[in-house]
Amino acid sequence: MRGLGFLAVTTSALSPLCMAAGDRRLRDGAALKFFWGPMDCGKSTLALQMHYNHSRQGRAGLVLTRNDRSHAARVTTRIGLAHEAIEVTDELNLVELVRQRWAAGERLDYVICDEACFYTVAQVEQMADLVDVHDVDVFAFGLATDFRAELFPASRRLFELADEVSRLQVEVLCWCGRLGQLNARVVAGVVAREGEQVVIGDTSSGTADVRYQVLCRRHYRAGDLGPARQGGAPPDGEVD
Ligand SMILES: [Zn+2]
Repeated sequence: MRGLGFLAVTTSALSPLCMAAGDRRLRDGAALKFFWGPMDCGKSTLALQMHYNHSRQGRAGLVLTRNDRSHAARVTTRIGLAHEAIEVTDELNLVELVRQRWAAGERLDYVICDEACFYTVAQVEQMADLVDVHDVDVFAFGLATDFRAELFPASRRLFELADEVSRLQVEVLCWCGRLGQLNARVVAGVVAREGEQVVIGDTSSGTADVRYQVLCRRHYRAGDLGPARQGGAPPDGEVD
């Protein structure tokens, strides 16, 4: 887990934990933190780094995800890290999940929620319950906006409820060199403007006709995919 120094996140995100109280609760109390950014900005990498850091402090946690690029119950990252995870469904109650683990004798101090943009709003409320009622830290990671540049409902709720919101600072560039800001859905070589909010791009086939590309606002609004990509065969399409 070395070599992650390029993750120029706000220092609070990766700084050593404050001293744990005798019951392993943080003295400052549990917190709900939301880390957001466009695709490819290292959200899943940071999620696993957080899990690693907290584990090293002797704390125990769960890793959850939804619609990971691997199409499996795992958190995977472009730079090769991977970790088993619980796949979140609409029906999953996060509070019940933690309470069941506790009832079975497992210790849990925190929950990592990767791809939280795809969770339900009710599950974001459950994250707040975990923090406020059960003193469990929740670290959520996800996209802010969908392919229409509109907030995902869960992400909106996280912005409203989180104790801390951090925009990940790893720069993702548009083809033009400007800061990549928006996640364009590219269908058959064209930037889509309408459709289902969640469509997972095919990550396994080079002939997939749905993929995602990070663009600056100017080129997102113009629908300009750049000289190399326009109408060309999509290399892959992934959701980070
Ligand atoms: Zn651009």
